[in-house]
Amino acid sequence: MAESSADIVIVGGGIAGMTTAYYLAKSGVPSLVVERDAIGSHASGFAYGGLSPLSGFGIPGPQAEIAMDGMRLHRELSKSLLEETGIDVDFRMRSSLALAFTEADVRKLRAALPWQQQQPGYAVRWLDGAEARRVEPRIADEALGATLIEGGGAVEPYRLVLALTRAAERLGVRVRHGRAIGLRRDGGRVTGVVLERKVLSCATAVLALGPWSAEASDWIGVPIDVRPLKGQILRLQAPGPPVVCSVGWGHNYATTKTDGLLWAGTTEEEAGFDEESTLAARDEIGAALLRMLPAMADAQIAQQTACLRPVAADGLLVLGCVPGLDQVYVATGGARKGILYGPAMGQAIADLVLGRDTRVALDAFAPGRFAGAR
Ligand SMILES: Cc1cc2nc3c(=O)[nH]c(=O)nc-3n(C[C@H](O)[C@H](O)[C@H](O)COP(=O)(O)OP(=O)(O)OC[C@H]3O[C@@H](n4cnc5c(N)ncnc54)[C@H](O)[C@@H]3O)c2cc1C
Repeated sequence: MAESSADIVIVGGGIAGMTTAYYLAKSGVPSLVVERDAIGSHASGFAYGGLSPLSGFGIPGPQAEIAMDGMRLHRELSKSLLEETGIDVDFRMRSSLALAFTEADVRKLRAALPWQQQQPGYAVRWLDGAEARRVEPRIADEALGATLIEGGGAVEPYRLVLALTRAAERLGVRVRHGRAIGLRRDGGRVTGVVLERKVLSCATAVLALGPWSAEASDWIGVPIDVRPLKGQILRLQAPGPPVVCSVGWGHNYATTKTDGLLWAGTTEEEAGFDEESTLAARDEIGAALLRMLPAMADAQIAQQTACLRPVAADGLLVLGCVPGLDQVYVATGGARKGILYGPAMGQAIADLVLGRDTRVALDAFAPGRFAGAR
Protein backbone atom coordinates (compact mmCIF):
# COMPACT_ATOMS: atom_id res chain seq x y z
CA MET A 1 0.00 0.00 0.00
CA ALA A 2 1.32 3.44 -0.93
CA GLU A 3 2.09 5.83 1.91
CA SER A 4 2.13 9.57 2.30
CA SER A 5 2.36 11.56 5.47
CA ALA A 6 1.08 14.52 7.41
CA ASP A 7 1.37 15.35 11.10
CA ILE A 8 -2.38 15.68 11.47
CA VAL A 9 -5.07 13.98 9.37
CA ILE A 10 -8.69 15.11 9.67
CA VAL A 11 -11.32 12.72 8.30
CA GLY A 12 -14.45 14.51 7.02
CA GLY A 13 -14.86 17.78 5.16
CA GLY A 14 -18.05 19.01 6.82
CA ILE A 15 -18.18 21.96 9.19
CA ALA A 16 -16.68 19.99 12.09
CA GLY A 17 -13.66 18.90 10.05
CA MET A 18 -13.08 22.19 8.25
CA THR A 19 -13.35 24.40 11.34
CA THR A 20 -10.79 22.14 13.04
CA ALA A 21 -8.46 22.47 10.04
CA TYR A 22 -8.98 26.23 9.97
CA TYR A 23 -8.28 26.89 13.65
CA LEU A 24 -5.24 24.59 13.66
CA ALA A 25 -3.89 26.38 10.60
CA LYS A 26 -4.48 29.78 12.23
CA SER A 27 -2.18 28.58 15.00
CA GLY A 28 0.46 27.69 12.43
CA VAL A 29 -0.30 23.95 12.30
CA PRO A 30 -1.42 22.77 8.85
CA SER A 31 -3.23 19.46 8.45
CA LEU A 32 -4.46 17.12 5.73
CA VAL A 33 -8.24 16.76 5.33
CA VAL A 34 -9.61 13.59 3.75
CA GLU A 35 -13.11 13.80 2.29
CA ARG A 36 -14.88 10.88 0.64
CA ASP A 37 -17.31 12.96 -1.47
CA ALA A 38 -16.85 16.73 -1.71
CA ILE A 39 -16.33 19.44 0.88
CA GLY A 40 -19.70 20.50 2.33
CA SER A 41 -21.59 18.02 0.17
CA HIS A 42 -23.76 16.70 3.01
CA ALA A 43 -25.57 18.47 5.89
CA SER A 44 -22.90 21.14 6.28
CA GLY A 45 -23.60 22.41 2.78
CA PHE A 46 -27.40 22.11 2.81
CA ALA A 47 -28.51 23.15 6.31
CA TYR A 48 -30.85 26.09 6.89
CA GLY A 49 -28.10 28.03 8.62
CA GLY A 50 -30.10 29.41 11.53
CA LEU A 51 -27.96 30.42 14.52
CA SER A 52 -30.17 30.34 17.60
CA PRO A 53 -28.21 29.72 20.79
CA LEU A 54 -31.12 30.24 23.22
CA SER A 55 -33.10 27.11 22.46
CA GLY A 56 -32.69 23.49 21.46
CA PHE A 57 -31.67 20.19 22.97
CA GLY A 58 -29.44 20.65 26.04
CA ILE A 59 -30.13 24.42 26.19
CA PRO A 60 -30.29 25.53 28.93
CA GLY A 61 -28.03 22.75 30.09
CA PRO A 62 -24.79 21.17 28.92
CA GLN A 63 -24.89 22.65 25.40
CA ALA A 64 -25.65 26.26 26.34
CA GLU A 65 -22.04 27.33 26.80
CA ILE A 66 -20.82 25.91 23.50
CA ALA A 67 -23.87 27.38 21.72
CA MET A 68 -22.90 30.86 22.96
CA ASP A 69 -19.28 30.28 22.00
CA GLY A 70 -20.38 29.13 18.54
CA MET A 71 -22.34 32.35 18.07
CA ARG A 72 -19.38 34.45 19.18
CA LEU A 73 -17.08 32.69 16.72
CA HIS A 74 -19.59 33.02 13.86
CA ARG A 75 -19.53 36.79 14.33
CA GLU A 76 -15.73 36.75 14.19
CA LEU A 77 -15.57 34.39 11.21
CA SER A 78 -17.97 36.45 9.14
CA LYS A 79 -15.37 39.25 9.20
CA SER A 80 -12.10 37.28 9.18
CA LEU A 81 -13.13 34.92 6.37
CA LEU A 82 -14.18 37.85 4.18
CA GLU A 83 -10.75 39.43 4.67
CA GLU A 84 -8.90 36.16 4.18
CA THR A 85 -10.81 34.81 1.17
CA GLY A 86 -13.12 37.47 -0.26
CA ILE A 87 -16.04 35.09 0.39
CA ASP A 88 -19.02 36.64 2.14
CA VAL A 89 -20.62 33.90 4.25
CA ASP A 90 -23.82 35.98 4.43
CA PHE A 91 -23.81 36.14 8.20
CA ARG A 92 -26.55 38.42 9.47
CA MET A 93 -28.29 39.14 12.69
CA ARG A 94 -31.82 37.80 12.41
CA SER A 95 -34.71 37.90 14.87
CA SER A 96 -36.79 34.81 15.37
CA LEU A 97 -40.42 34.31 16.29
CA ALA A 98 -41.31 30.98 17.89
CA LEU A 99 -45.06 30.64 17.47
CA ALA A 100 -47.60 29.07 19.81
CA PHE A 101 -50.80 27.59 18.38
CA THR A 102 -52.04 25.80 21.50
CA GLU A 103 -52.12 26.54 25.22
CA ALA A 104 -49.51 23.79 25.64
CA ASP A 105 -47.24 25.63 23.15
CA VAL A 106 -47.77 28.85 25.13
CA ARG A 107 -46.84 27.18 28.44
CA LYS A 108 -43.72 25.58 26.95
CA LEU A 109 -42.46 28.77 25.33
CA ARG A 110 -43.21 30.93 28.37
CA ALA A 111 -41.47 28.48 30.70
CA ALA A 112 -38.24 29.03 28.74
CA LEU A 113 -38.43 32.85 28.99
CA PRO A 114 -36.80 33.50 32.40
CA TRP A 115 -33.53 31.78 31.42
CA GLN A 116 -33.57 33.23 27.91
CA GLN A 117 -34.12 36.74 29.26
CA GLN A 118 -31.07 36.46 31.53
CA GLN A 119 -28.65 35.82 28.67
CA PRO A 120 -26.46 38.83 27.92
CA GLY A 121 -26.50 40.10 24.35
CA TYR A 122 -30.05 38.96 23.59
CA ALA A 123 -33.45 40.65 23.87
CA VAL A 124 -36.27 38.20 24.48
CA ARG A 125 -39.94 38.95 25.03
CA TRP A 126 -43.35 37.38 24.82
CA LEU A 127 -45.75 38.79 22.22
CA ASP A 128 -49.45 38.13 22.00
CA GLY A 129 -50.87 37.10 18.63
CA ALA A 130 -51.63 40.65 17.48
CA GLU A 131 -48.13 41.84 18.45
CA ALA A 132 -46.54 38.92 16.60
CA ARG A 133 -48.53 39.85 13.49
CA ARG A 134 -47.21 43.39 13.76
CA VAL A 135 -43.68 41.95 13.38
CA GLU A 136 -44.72 39.74 10.42
CA PRO A 137 -48.26 40.51 9.23
CA ARG A 138 -48.61 37.18 7.37
CA ILE A 139 -48.48 35.09 10.55
CA ALA A 140 -51.65 33.03 10.87
CA ASP A 141 -54.57 34.51 12.83
CA GLU A 142 -54.66 31.24 14.81
CA ALA A 143 -51.25 31.93 16.38
CA LEU A 144 -51.91 32.68 20.09
CA GLY A 145 -48.55 34.33 20.71
CA ALA A 146 -44.84 34.01 20.14
CA THR A 147 -41.43 34.40 21.71
CA LEU A 148 -39.46 37.10 19.93
CA ILE A 149 -35.70 36.64 20.21
CA GLU A 150 -33.33 39.33 19.00
CA GLY A 151 -29.62 38.59 18.95
CA GLY A 152 -29.55 35.34 16.98
CA GLY A 153 -28.39 35.12 13.42
CA ALA A 154 -28.12 33.19 10.19
CA VAL A 155 -25.36 32.19 7.80
CA GLU A 156 -25.06 30.44 4.44
CA PRO A 157 -23.61 27.08 5.47
CA TYR A 158 -22.14 26.11 2.10
CA ARG A 159 -20.38 29.45 1.66
CA LEU A 160 -19.08 29.11 5.20
CA VAL A 161 -17.56 25.68 4.59
CA LEU A 162 -16.14 26.88 1.27
CA ALA A 163 -14.58 29.95 2.88
CA LEU A 164 -13.12 27.91 5.74
CA THR A 165 -11.59 25.55 3.20
CA ARG A 166 -10.12 28.29 1.07
CA ALA A 167 -8.71 30.14 4.09
CA ALA A 168 -7.27 26.92 5.50
CA GLU A 169 -5.68 26.00 2.16
CA ARG A 170 -4.01 29.39 2.02
CA LEU A 171 -2.46 28.57 5.38
CA GLY A 172 -1.07 25.28 4.12
CA VAL A 173 -3.93 22.82 4.71
CA ARG A 174 -4.27 20.15 2.02
CA VAL A 175 -7.59 18.58 1.08
CA ARG A 176 -7.64 15.24 -0.67
CA HIS A 177 -10.30 12.93 -1.91
CA GLY A 178 -10.47 9.51 -0.26
CA ARG A 179 -12.46 7.26 2.00
CA ALA A 180 -10.98 6.38 5.37
CA ILE A 181 -11.54 2.76 6.35
CA GLY A 182 -9.45 2.47 9.49
CA LEU A 183 -6.61 3.68 11.66
CA ARG A 184 -3.14 2.18 11.85
CA ARG A 185 -2.00 1.97 15.43
CA ASP A 186 1.06 1.09 17.41
CA GLY A 187 -0.33 0.24 20.86
CA GLY A 188 -2.07 3.35 22.12
CA ARG A 189 -0.52 5.58 19.46
CA VAL A 190 -2.03 6.35 16.05
CA THR A 191 0.48 6.02 13.20
CA GLY A 192 -1.78 6.43 10.20
CA VAL A 193 -5.22 6.80 8.63
CA VAL A 194 -5.95 3.91 6.29
CA LEU A 195 -7.69 4.81 3.02
CA GLU A 196 -8.93 2.30 0.47
CA ARG A 197 -5.65 2.25 -1.48
CA LYS A 198 -3.27 4.26 0.64
CA VAL A 199 -2.12 4.87 4.19
CA LEU A 200 -1.65 8.44 5.33
CA SER A 201 0.92 8.19 8.08
CA CYS A 202 0.30 10.69 10.85
CA ALA A 203 0.73 11.24 14.57
CA THR A 204 -2.70 12.81 15.18
CA ALA A 205 -6.13 11.93 13.75
CA VAL A 206 -9.36 13.88 14.05
CA LEU A 207 -12.50 11.93 13.18
CA ALA A 208 -15.26 14.25 11.95
CA LEU A 209 -17.39 11.81 9.95
CA GLY A 210 -20.77 13.41 10.76
CA PRO A 211 -23.64 10.87 10.72
CA TRP A 212 -21.20 8.17 9.56
CA SER A 213 -19.17 8.48 12.79
CA ALA A 214 -20.28 5.09 14.15
CA GLU A 215 -18.14 3.51 11.40
CA ALA A 216 -15.09 4.66 13.32
CA SER A 217 -16.08 2.69 16.44
CA ASP A 218 -14.15 -0.37 15.26
CA TRP A 219 -11.12 1.74 14.31
CA ILE A 220 -10.75 3.16 17.80
CA GLY A 221 -12.15 0.29 19.86
CA VAL A 222 -14.68 2.63 21.50
CA PRO A 223 -18.36 2.78 20.47
CA ILE A 224 -19.43 6.09 18.95
CA ASP A 225 -23.20 5.90 19.24
CA VAL A 226 -24.21 8.37 16.54
CA ARG A 227 -27.01 7.85 14.01
CA PRO A 228 -28.31 9.82 11.01
CA LEU A 229 -31.53 11.82 11.40
CA LYS A 230 -32.80 12.90 8.01
CA GLY A 231 -34.14 16.40 7.43
CA GLN A 232 -35.58 18.03 4.33
CA ILE A 233 -36.00 21.65 3.26
CA LEU A 234 -38.11 23.34 0.56
CA ARG A 235 -36.74 26.43 -1.18
CA LEU A 236 -39.68 28.39 -2.58
CA GLN A 237 -40.47 31.30 -4.86
CA ALA A 238 -42.85 33.03 -2.50
CA PRO A 239 -45.35 35.83 -3.12
CA GLY A 240 -44.99 39.22 -1.47
CA PRO A 241 -42.10 40.83 0.37
CA PRO A 242 -39.35 38.83 2.13
CA VAL A 243 -40.10 37.21 5.51
CA VAL A 244 -37.51 39.19 7.40
CA CYS A 245 -37.37 37.18 10.61
CA SER A 246 -37.18 33.45 11.12
CA VAL A 247 -40.70 32.19 11.86
CA GLY A 248 -40.78 28.89 13.72
CA TRP A 249 -43.23 26.46 15.26
CA GLY A 250 -41.91 23.34 16.98
CA HIS A 251 -39.36 21.85 14.59
CA ASN A 252 -40.74 23.84 11.64
CA TYR A 253 -39.38 27.14 10.40
CA ALA A 254 -39.37 29.51 7.44
CA THR A 255 -37.48 32.60 6.40
CA THR A 256 -36.35 34.38 3.25
CA LYS A 257 -32.67 33.65 2.68
CA THR A 258 -30.14 35.82 0.89
CA ASP A 259 -30.84 33.94 -2.39
CA GLY A 260 -34.30 35.58 -2.31
CA LEU A 261 -36.04 32.24 -1.77
CA LEU A 262 -38.23 31.31 1.16
CA TRP A 263 -36.61 28.31 2.86
CA ALA A 264 -39.05 26.16 4.80
CA GLY A 265 -38.29 23.10 6.88
CA THR A 266 -37.97 20.62 8.27
CA THR A 267 -38.58 16.96 8.90
CA GLU A 268 -37.07 14.59 11.44
CA GLU A 269 -36.96 11.16 9.78
CA GLU A 270 -35.40 7.91 10.95
CA ALA A 271 -34.52 6.75 7.44
CA GLY A 272 -31.01 5.36 7.82
CA PHE A 273 -28.52 6.84 5.36
CA ASP A 274 -31.13 7.66 2.70
CA GLU A 275 -30.54 11.22 1.41
CA GLU A 276 -33.30 11.32 -1.23
CA SER A 277 -36.00 13.97 -1.04
CA THR A 278 -39.58 12.66 -0.83
CA LEU A 279 -43.13 13.73 -1.67
CA ALA A 280 -44.24 12.92 1.88
CA ALA A 281 -41.73 15.44 3.26
CA ARG A 282 -42.79 18.03 0.70
CA ASP A 283 -46.39 17.68 1.91
CA GLU A 284 -45.43 17.73 5.61
CA ILE A 285 -43.28 20.85 5.28
CA GLY A 286 -45.87 22.53 3.06
CA ALA A 287 -48.63 21.90 5.61
CA ALA A 288 -46.56 23.33 8.48
CA LEU A 289 -45.62 26.36 6.39
CA LEU A 290 -49.27 27.11 5.65
CA ARG A 291 -50.16 26.73 9.32
CA MET A 292 -47.56 29.39 10.16
CA LEU A 293 -47.90 31.61 7.08
CA PRO A 294 -51.16 30.85 5.18
CA ALA A 295 -50.34 33.54 2.61
CA MET A 296 -47.69 31.18 1.20
CA ALA A 297 -50.33 28.96 -0.42
CA ASP A 298 -49.21 30.12 -3.88
CA ALA A 299 -45.47 29.66 -3.26
CA GLN A 300 -43.73 27.55 -5.92
CA ILE A 301 -41.09 24.99 -5.07
CA ALA A 302 -37.73 25.89 -6.62
CA GLN A 303 -35.70 23.14 -4.96
CA GLN A 304 -36.09 20.42 -2.35
CA THR A 305 -33.07 19.14 -0.44
CA ALA A 306 -32.48 16.31 2.00
CA CYS A 307 -29.53 15.62 4.27
CA LEU A 308 -28.55 13.85 7.47
CA ARG A 309 -27.88 15.24 10.93
CA PRO A 310 -25.40 13.41 13.16
CA VAL A 311 -27.29 12.63 16.39
CA ALA A 312 -25.75 10.90 19.40
CA ALA A 313 -27.79 8.40 21.45
CA ASP A 314 -28.11 10.94 24.28
CA GLY A 315 -28.54 13.92 21.93
CA LEU A 316 -25.33 15.65 23.02
CA LEU A 317 -22.18 16.51 21.09
CA VAL A 318 -19.39 13.94 20.85
CA LEU A 319 -16.29 16.06 21.19
CA GLY A 320 -12.90 15.32 22.63
CA CYS A 321 -10.14 12.75 23.06
CA VAL A 322 -10.65 9.04 22.51
CA PRO A 323 -9.88 7.19 25.76
CA GLY A 324 -6.94 4.81 25.57
CA LEU A 325 -5.48 6.38 22.43
CA ASP A 326 -2.99 9.21 22.19
CA GLN A 327 -3.79 12.03 19.80
CA VAL A 328 -7.07 10.67 18.40
CA TYR A 329 -10.08 12.98 18.61
CA VAL A 330 -13.76 12.79 17.68
CA ALA A 331 -15.87 15.80 16.60
CA THR A 332 -19.50 15.04 15.79
CA GLY A 333 -23.07 14.99 17.13
CA GLY A 334 -24.06 18.53 16.06
CA ALA A 335 -27.61 17.26 15.40
CA ARG A 336 -29.96 20.18 14.61
CA LYS A 337 -27.39 22.82 15.57
CA GLY A 338 -24.16 21.61 14.04
CA ILE A 339 -23.71 24.80 12.02
CA LEU A 340 -24.06 26.91 15.17
CA TYR A 341 -21.73 24.66 17.18
CA GLY A 342 -19.29 24.02 14.31
CA PRO A 343 -16.76 26.81 14.92
CA ALA A 344 -16.72 26.13 18.67
CA MET A 345 -16.25 22.40 17.99
CA GLY A 346 -13.33 23.09 15.66
CA GLN A 347 -11.75 25.56 18.08
CA ALA A 348 -12.08 23.10 20.97
CA ILE A 349 -10.46 20.25 19.03
CA ALA A 350 -7.67 22.54 17.81
CA ASP A 351 -7.03 23.57 21.44
CA LEU A 352 -6.88 19.94 22.56
CA VAL A 353 -4.51 18.97 19.73
CA LEU A 354 -2.24 21.89 20.62
CA GLY A 355 -2.28 21.04 24.33
CA ARG A 356 -4.19 24.17 25.32
CA ASP A 357 -7.13 24.57 27.70
CA THR A 358 -10.47 24.69 25.89
CA ARG A 359 -12.70 27.75 26.27
CA VAL A 360 -15.74 25.58 26.93
CA ALA A 361 -16.22 22.59 29.22
CA LEU A 362 -16.27 19.35 27.25
CA ASP A 363 -16.99 16.86 30.08
CA ALA A 364 -20.57 16.11 28.95
CA PHE A 365 -19.37 15.41 25.41
CA ALA A 366 -16.70 12.77 26.16
CA PRO A 367 -16.40 10.32 23.22
CA GLY A 368 -15.85 7.43 25.68
CA ARG A 369 -19.24 7.81 27.37
CA PHE A 370 -21.04 5.19 25.26
CA ALA A 371 -18.68 2.37 26.27
CA GLY A 372 -20.66 1.36 29.36
CA ALA A 373 -24.01 1.75 27.66
CA ARG A 374 -23.73 -1.34 25.43
C1 LIG B 1 -32.45 19.86 7.08
C2 LIG B 1 -31.37 20.31 8.02
C3 LIG B 1 -31.34 21.61 8.47
C4 LIG B 1 -30.37 22.04 9.36
N1 LIG B 1 -30.39 23.33 9.80
C5 LIG B 1 -29.48 23.75 10.70
C6 LIG B 1 -29.52 25.09 11.17
O1 LIG B 1 -30.39 25.90 10.78
N2 LIG B 1 -28.59 25.48 12.09
C7 LIG B 1 -27.64 24.63 12.55
O2 LIG B 1 -26.83 25.04 13.40
N3 LIG B 1 -27.57 23.35 12.11
C8 LIG B 1 -28.47 22.89 11.20
N4 LIG B 1 -28.45 21.60 10.77
C9 LIG B 1 -27.47 20.66 11.36
C10 LIG B 1 -26.12 20.70 10.68
O3 LIG B 1 -26.28 20.76 9.29
C11 LIG B 1 -25.30 19.45 11.05
O4 LIG B 1 -25.33 19.21 12.43
C12 LIG B 1 -23.83 19.66 10.64
O5 LIG B 1 -23.75 20.09 9.30
C13 LIG B 1 -23.01 18.38 10.82
O6 LIG B 1 -21.70 18.65 10.39
P1 LIG B 1 -20.58 17.54 10.37
O7 LIG B 1 -19.34 18.14 9.84
O8 LIG B 1 -20.55 16.87 11.69
O9 LIG B 1 -21.16 16.42 9.35
P2 LIG B 1 -21.28 16.42 7.75
O10 LIG B 1 -21.66 17.73 7.21
O11 LIG B 1 -22.14 15.25 7.40
O12 LIG B 1 -19.79 16.12 7.28
C14 LIG B 1 -19.18 14.87 7.48
C15 LIG B 1 -18.30 14.60 6.27
O13 LIG B 1 -17.54 13.41 6.51
C16 LIG B 1 -17.41 12.72 5.28
N5 LIG B 1 -17.09 11.33 5.58
C17 LIG B 1 -17.86 10.43 6.24
N6 LIG B 1 -17.24 9.25 6.33
C18 LIG B 1 -16.03 9.40 5.72
C19 LIG B 1 -14.94 8.53 5.51
N7 LIG B 1 -14.95 7.25 5.92
N8 LIG B 1 -13.84 9.00 4.85
C20 LIG B 1 -13.82 10.30 4.41
N9 LIG B 1 -14.83 11.16 4.57
C21 LIG B 1 -15.93 10.72 5.24
C22 LIG B 1 -18.76 12.91 4.62
O14 LIG B 1 -18.71 12.69 3.23
C23 LIG B 1 -19.11 14.34 5.01
O15 LIG B 1 -18.72 15.27 4.01
C24 LIG B 1 -29.38 21.14 9.83
C25 LIG B 1 -29.38 19.84 9.36
C26 LIG B 1 -30.36 19.40 8.47
C27 LIG B 1 -30.34 17.99 7.97
